Amino acid sequence: MTALREDLESSEPDRQFGSGWISGVLALVLAVAGLGAVLCLRYPEYLTVPEARGVYNVALIRLALFAGLLTAFVLAIVSIVLRRQKVLGFSAITLVLMATALGGSQAQDRINVQTDVYLGLDWFILSILFTGIVFIPIERLLGARNQPIFRLEWREDLLYFLISSLFVQGLTYLSLAPSLAILRHTDWVGIRGFIASQPIWLQVIEIMVLTDLVQYWVHRGFHRVPWLWNFHAIHHSAPMMDWLASSRMHVMEIVVLRGATVIPMYILGFAESALYIYLVFVFLLSAAVHSNVRINLRPIEKWFVTPRFHHWHHGIEREAIDVNFAVHFPWLDRMFGTHHMPEDGRWPSGYGVVSQPIPRGFIKQLFYPFYRRRPQVAATAVPAQPVDAPPSDQG
Ligand SMILES: [Zn+2]
Ligand SMILES: [Zn+2]
Repeated sequence: MTALREDLESSEPDRQFGSGWISGVLALVLAVAGLGAVLCLRYPEYLTVPEARGVYNVALIRLALFAGLLTAFVLAIVSIVLRRQKVLGFSAITLVLMATALGGSQAQDRINVQTDVYLGLDWFILSILFTGIVFIPIERLLGARNQPIFRLEWREDLLYFLISSLFVQGLTYLSLAPSLAILRHTDWVGIRGFIASQPIWLQVIEIMVLTDLVQYWVHRGFHRVPWLWNFHAIHHSAPMMDWLASSRMHVMEIVVLRGATVIPMYILGFAESALYIYLVFVFLLSAAVHSNVRINLRPIEKWFVTPRFHHWHHGIEREAIDVNFAVHFPWLDRMFGTHHMPEDGRWPSGYGVVSQPIPRGFIKQLFYPFYRRRPQVAATAVPAQPVDAPPSDQG
């Protein structure tokens, strides 16, 4: 595993076109996705989201799976031929063989078997492939600092992505339970009917304004209340910003944030289609504002969040402390006095938490807020920190 990681993280000359790195990485990604898809076909009752099962075209999935595994195999051979280090190619071939042994694209599905508990493996494969396909090329083109795809702490962030996707059932239940309880005790038929009767686009805009007003204060609370900050500090501990860094978030924060945004939407009776459009949009927007895309979107940045706006929220500079809390609309920060966008178009010099040491790794970060009792006061002077250094404990 170490050899595989080292090869994924290898430096520039070893990643060049023709080095077998690109074919090896693509083979590995396709093989992992293929093996996951075979498992989903074999054990759909445990590994797929029930709401999605009805939507899947199994024949098409089998065709895509066959093409994906075949492509992974061919690319792995190409990588083995081209590359000195063979670990990427051989790992991909091993996974393709495992997927084939489990039935490959012909794996039996038992899609009609129902269970109470499931993991969202299908949700993970689809969402990571889709966001990766969208954002990796954009970051290659517009990203700064020559930041590699497999940058510092990429495995931690990938694990966050995996866990929040796999446990989608538990997370949804925990954040929905309070709103369902409130719903049982309210009966605003008039208001709910009026809200649901509006055009969908208008409902989506209303949801965005409403949820952002809530999110702004919840987010600000997470920064200002020391005990809550210890949960939110995990999100800020990402040492580099890219689309994957958006997934680093403590489970408790995911539940609170989703609950706080979903509750008003449910209670006010917005149409389900408007809710879904909003949820997909906010998922992509979150990846976008964290992404390593270095363009200044001057015409819109006054009205709508941009990568530079949110990168300043993560910055290590003193001027970046407790600013830019909004998730959609920067004018909320202007309204409440927390807006920060340097006129000269600057970006922060680095990212991470400088006021306290945050442990590395999912498990340590999961328990961190519970054993850390006395948060230190933020640094009075924040030293500049190179972007590829882990979060320091200075101050
Ligand atoms: Zn924050
Ligand atoms: Zn963030």
